[in-house]
Amino acid sequence: MRVKFVAGNWKMNGNRASNEALLTDLVPLLAGISGVESVICPPFVYLQQVLSLIGGTKTALGAQDLCQFGNGAYTGGVSAAMLKDSGCSHVIVGHSERRALFGETDALVAEKFAVAREAGLVPVLCVGETLAERESGATEKVVDRQLQAVMQRCGAAALRDAVVAYEPVWAIGTGKTATPEQAQAVHAFIRGRVAAADAAVAAEVRIVYGGSVKAANAEQLFAMADIDGGLIGGAALVAGEFAAICRAAAQKH
Ligand code: PEP
Repeated sequence: MRVKFVAGNWKMNGNRASNEALLTDLVPLLAGISGVESVICPPFVYLQQVLSLIGGTKTALGAQDLCQFGNGAYTGGVSAAMLKDSGCSHVIVGHSERRALFGETDALVAEKFAVAREAGLVPVLCVGETLAERESGATEKVVDRQLQAVMQRCGAAALRDAVVAYEPVWAIGTGKTATPEQAQAVHAFIRGRVAAADAAVAAEVRIVYGGSVKAANAEQLFAMADIDGGLIGGAALVAGEFAAICRAAAQKH
């Protein structure tokens, strides 16, 4: 039985006052939900503030990105060791915004995945196709390419304790959610590709869905056999929404 996983990706949003207000509402709501792993991923500069507000609860701290290099002369970078030292247990790698807007290649994402694991962080690997890729029938090809880059760099066993987030780019921040059936089909495909390399790992790896998940659609998405939770953007900035999504994941048997 895979433990359900829900992460909130705040993206480049928030300030000290709004973070405090959000977490003051959210932390007590999350405390009443069991059976789901929840993670908050704020911008780097707010990691310490968020840790001080969620510290001592079951909710974990994650970062949205990391540098592929170890500590050294890499101006502007934040290393895996620094994230670990700052109280992070998780880190998102390969978010579509990083791939599209910051030029991150499959190889770079695989390198980031590797250094995150080496530092003892749980990588949350994002994969997903653009609308043009879906419309041209290339969804599986794209997702497989993104996944294989990591499996080739780190081995399939590296996915055992990681999380894969299927995030169709056309559904992120657009209000357009993949239907539960569309998402399930890709999740089953991903699990099948992992199984081709290692069946035991495929049975254990959490594959979560991201793309306009809200309280109103979470339950239907999470009811699908291969959807083990969600990576949440916009709705993670609203305490009641994020808590309701975590509750929906916790209710799945
Ligand atoms: C995301 O940021 O990964 C995401 C899925 O965003 P949203 O939930 O806003 O679509």
